[in-house]
Amino acid sequence: MEYPRVRFAPSPTGYLHVGGLRTALYNYLFAKKNNGKFILRIEDTDQSRYVEGAVDNLINALKWAGLSFDEGPDVGGEFGPYKQSERLDIYKKHADELISKGDAYYCFCTPERLKLLREEQEKQKLPQAKYDKHCLSLSKNDIEEKLKSKIPFVIRLNVRPNYKIAFDDIIRERVEFDSNNVDDQVLIKSDGYPTYHLANVVDDHLMKITHVIRGEEWLSSVPKHVLLYDAFGWKRPIFAHLPLLLNPDRSKLSKRQGDVAVEDYRDKGYLREALINFVALLGWNAGDDREFYYLDELVEAFSLERVNKSGAVFDVVKLNSLNAEHLRKKSNDEILLMLRESIQKSEFRSQNYPDEFLLFIIAAMKERVSFVHEFISNCRYFYEAPKEYEQKSVEKNWKPETPEQLKKLSDAFAALNDPTKEDYEHSLSKVAEELNVGKGKLIHPLRLAVSGQSTGPGMFDLLFILGEDEVIKRIDTAIQLLKK
Ligand code: GLU
Repeated sequence: MEYPRVRFAPSPTGYLHVGGLRTALYNYLFAKKNNGKFILRIEDTDQSRYVEGAVDNLINALKWAGLSFDEGPDVGGEFGPYKQSERLDIYKKHADELISKGDAYYCFCTPERLKLLREEQEKQKLPQAKYDKHCLSLSKNDIEEKLKSKIPFVIRLNVRPNYKIAFDDIIRERVEFDSNNVDDQVLIKSDGYPTYHLANVVDDHLMKITHVIRGEEWLSSVPKHVLLYDAFGWKRPIFAHLPLLLNPDRSKLSKRQGDVAVEDYRDKGYLREALINFVALLGWNAGDDREFYYLDELVEAFSLERVNKSGAVFDVVKLNSLNAEHLRKKSNDEILLMLRESIQKSEFRSQNYPDEFLLFIIAAMKERVSFVHEFISNCRYFYEAPKEYEQKSVEKNWKPETPEQLKKLSDAFAALNDPTKEDYEHSLSKVAEELNVGKGKLIHPLRLAVSGQSTGPGMFDLLFILGEDEVIKRIDTAIQLLKK
């Protein structure tokens, strides 16, 4: 096989949709796996949908995700420019070529006439509204005159009737359409901009794209594209249409049921590795039940043949568990850097925590969190003394004899000198023995006193990390506040 050239061709809407990330990722994986090239092309010919800063957002989100391009608006390349709004003359030239061959024509119909036509066809209950080729019969002179008098026009594709349009799709297999169901698509709009169909086909050809890998919602556009390839006499690329992304109730993935922007997931603290891993599994698997992958492992394992036809459910619970897994695989030093960033965004930003202290927290909590920010939110007691105590645990564990017993414990701790974890443990065992109670009798109220909670990391890790003075202070405060 020649080395493939594939592209991700988003229309900049202001954010990167997770479905877009999946399309970009599958293109990237396919290119890397096959020594091909991965190209970014910005499809920004819809002036009415222009959003300030959208292209930069898109590029930043892709960079964050770790998908780098071989060619694109920011990196250049031999087939640029890579923004369609900078290629308008190219589309015009190609539309003219189609006109001269009879495969496209000028249409001067007013919006009012088109509206009437649509209404008429609706009345007749035609399956879909289609342009009636009214302007196809205009004479050369008519056309020249109208052009001269600057009557607004569009350029339409001249779809030939009774033409069977068939193509193979790697995922959907054989797909067939009847040209009688294809409208005379507008190729150049009245503002002089091309429509998606013309620009997309012209660019895929000129950029030597070998495989078009994109979402299933574009499948119905392929007949128009095939007609264009055939009209130009160009070789068609190989198509692969990816399954829809679904909400858990199997409706089409929508904003209403959760976040759809990659930026939202990034800002919520998801790791790029986890999001990429998760998105890769939306419609693909390697044929086994493996779920944990890094990007380079995905490159190794990926093939378009193993992409499913049926829709893929976007399951946030699974994403969260992958996030936890990826987080656990990171070194504590790496997590430390991320935790510092998280602290900067928290109310504890003005505190000066030593690395050692934070590394202890990381080691104690690593198995208990799914997100970096949970090294703060799930264990605030490391950063500040508890302001309240979990009521259920107070009722269960704070007995009339508890204050006295904990006082003994805090006295025993006070007698220690720079205690290790083990020192705390011995000391507690000794006090339990002296009081003739099981260790649990002390551990539960002790945890409550120092953390305000009933669960958390190992008790003695917790004491060690907080430090002797803080532990004693917290026990004394709890005795004062909870008494009985
Ligand atoms: N501009 C289209 C989009 O926004 C591209 C579809 C395609 O890849 O052909 O997704």
